[in-house]
Amino acid sequence: MIIAIDGPSGAGKSTVAKAAAKQLGFNCLDTGAMYRAVAWYALEHGLSLDDEPALGEVARVKEISFGHVAGDPTPRRVFIDGTEVTDAIRTAQVDRAVSSVSAHPSVREALVDQQRRIGNAGDYVVEGRDIGTVVFPQASVKVFLTASDEERAMRRVRQNERRGVGSVDFDEVLADLRRRDEADSSRAASPLVAAEDAVKLDSTGYTADEIIERIVSLAKE
Ligand code: C5P
Repeated sequence: MIIAIDGPSGAGKSTVAKAAAKQLGFNCLDTGAMYRAVAWYALEHGLSLDDEPALGEVARVKEISFGHVAGDPTPRRVFIDGTEVTDAIRTAQVDRAVSSVSAHPSVREALVDQQRRIGNAGDYVVEGRDIGTVVFPQASVKVFLTASDEERAMRRVRQNERRGVGSVDFDEVLADLRRRDEADSSRAASPLVAAEDAVKLDSTGYTADEIIERIVSLAKE
């Protein structure tokens, strides 16, 4: 069974996906981390963000995998080509690069293949931008999660503070979210749109627990 959670940056997808997965006894897949890992690899190896053939090759060939922290059932560690990039993919530099990387159709094709392979192996809550529309259009539950721009920026600042990585400047984070929303929504390949049959939830003013409860009850319907 697949539960698809899509929506713009900072809407709270990761928090609610992980908690809903835990309550349901499902696995959890963060597809944004995979695009971030390819963007990190490109920056690290000096590849141009416009070089679609090179970036497509990275997405096809360099293995992206997830690992657990002891005692936590949700995978929080991310690796590409054997290197751990858990924190490295959350920097402001990767935030700025990732939408250019994710706009390339060959990168998307390779990562969507990997996402389907992972998700088809069990019960998964999968979070991203195109899960209900492209990756798993047959998902049993589809949620499109949004929140106001300011609330999303505030949450991202708090998350960066907790993680000790990425920008904690509200205006910088807000500008980055808006720029990425625009890039993700206007790209030709799999733009960010809600699936027609998605349940649309606006989390502004709701606690994470209220949203999690709603998703868990949709999964049990
Ligand atoms: O979810 P997160 O903010 O970590 O995603 C980082 C970027 O990866 C997004 O801004 C988007 O460009 C890309 N992405 C995507 N499709 C997905 C997940 C993420 O294009 N399914």
